[in-house]
Amino acid sequence: MTIETASPPAPALEMRGITKRYPGVVANDHIDLEVRPGEIHALLGENGAGKTTLMNILYGLARPDEGEILLDGRPVTITGPSDAIARGISMVHQHFMLVPVLSVAENILLGEETMANPVFLDRREARRRILELGRRFHFEIEPDARVSTLSVGWQQRVEILKALYRQARILVLDEPTAVLTPQETEEIFAVLRRLAAEGHSIVFISHKLYEVLEIADRITVIRRGRVVGSRIPSETNEDDLAELMVGREVQLTVDRGASHPAEVALRIEGLRVADDRGSEVVRGIDLDVRAGEILGIAGVAGNGQDELVEALIGLRRPAAGRITLAGHDVTGHSPRQLNEAGVAFVPADRHRFGLVLPFDVSDNLVLTSYYRSPFARGILRNDAAIETAAKETVAAFDIRTPSVHAQMSTLSGGNQQKVVVGREFGRDLRLLVLDQPTRGLDVGSIEFIHRRTIAKRDAGTAVLLVSAELDEILELSDRIAVMYRGEIVAVVDGPTADKNAIGLLMATGGRAAAGVEQVPA
Ligand code: ATP
Repeated sequence: MTIETASPPAPALEMRGITKRYPGVVANDHIDLEVRPGEIHALLGENGAGKTTLMNILYGLARPDEGEILLDGRPVTITGPSDAIARGISMVHQHFMLVPVLSVAENILLGEETMANPVFLDRREARRRILELGRRFHFEIEPDARVSTLSVGWQQRVEILKALYRQARILVLDEPTAVLTPQETEEIFAVLRRLAAEGHSIVFISHKLYEVLEIADRITVIRRGRVVGSRIPSETNEDDLAELMVGREVQLTVDRGASHPAEVALRIEGLRVADDRGSEVVRGIDLDVRAGEILGIAGVAGNGQDELVEALIGLRRPAAGRITLAGHDVTGHSPRQLNEAGVAFVPADRHRFGLVLPFDVSDNLVLTSYYRSPFARGILRNDAAIETAAKETVAAFDIRTPSVHAQMSTLSGGNQQKVVVGREFGRDLRLLVLDQPTRGLDVGSIEFIHRRTIAKRDAGTAVLLVSAELDEILELSDRIAVMYRGEIVAVVDGPTADKNAIGLLMATGGRAAAGVEQVPA
């Protein structure tokens, strides 16, 4: 019998000295990253640190200026996404790329139907393989189900199935849990663990430190384009990771003094709102928000929160009911009228509502005010005033951009969000509507926005906060309303709220859940 000296297996993926420069910024500065077979490797970094750039290089979407990529120890040049896929690399995107009207199988096959062989694609065989993969990784899914009928958690699994169908060995997941509930997150984690156990390598990008600590085997932290440290979860904690990422100590919870609620700023009475398909998804809501208080709306995504918010900011006409702002009926008013009445809005989907990506940063900062003084004189734009105000906001909100004239689309996701927040927070307000305001933001930026939200409250603004992050709701809210199937099923005091009781209400809508003491709506 011969005894072989076991040399450690080559890393599945090695990125060496990767450097990528964009005008005015070094997005990746000699980054080294090594991912072993069967490893879940978390990539952590503040907004604009360079995570997406590094993964775009891996996927062939961007070319590095320097450095090399090795797969199983062999240097490769990745020329584009189809080349990356052929080499076993797949991306599960943050903004899902699925086509809603197509079935699961059709989505998985999209792109497989090459021009060379459109006819011979064996659909039955494809169906069989999809079912088999689902069984193997314990997430069986009906291949004929239409994607639009699936929850976001299941859509995510379809994305993962698509990667597995293409025989990916290296999967990159960019903030996969941003839109998932805690249960869905656990389910996805179970899938990832099974993938890793079968030898797949996973690169996991997230801003949620507790998740990274739970799921990762190793963590690489980058800051301003450079690797600043590498950790294993058992030897670190959230505070350590936050400090490594941001380069200073971060307060993960903000101090919040007592609120001093004054007169009712927003009154919602008997509000009913339908969704795009005409079903009533807000079903008779009564709620007051006072000047100087933060009212948090807790609820599992998809319980009518989006439509409620859209009605409040004039994007959706209510079917019935009344909205009054400081005593004035504003039901059915346009977004611009509401904006002028002192209502600001930070949307969950910044690409749809918040930003114009082909415009530059300064234009985006005046999107809702460009026609007013000091940004306009008569019909003339006052470019100097726009530029000065933009520079101030960029500095105040720590927006990482080489210039206020950089095109919005070149900013990192988190910094795009900060532009929306900077614009909406930057004036006197009567009502501030925040919908998932910190989604995709790093811990330092979350701390900052939470502080600014409390400062707005203390300056007398009424704040309505919608968030799928129960921790964020608990952290900020003076009162918490729980929304379930289009109704408010409980309103409770924020500072004394019990997390488990609220979680139970969110999940079941049970009106008489133990431990919930109601306060006036
Ligand atoms: P986030 O957590 O906010 O998504 P990130 O770590 O993914 O951030 P990247 O998107 O990689 O950050 O951005 C890194 C830097 O590179 C940023 O300063 C960004 O503005 C810049 N950048 C990225 N893509 C481009 C581009 N196509 N043109 C110019 N600059 C770019």
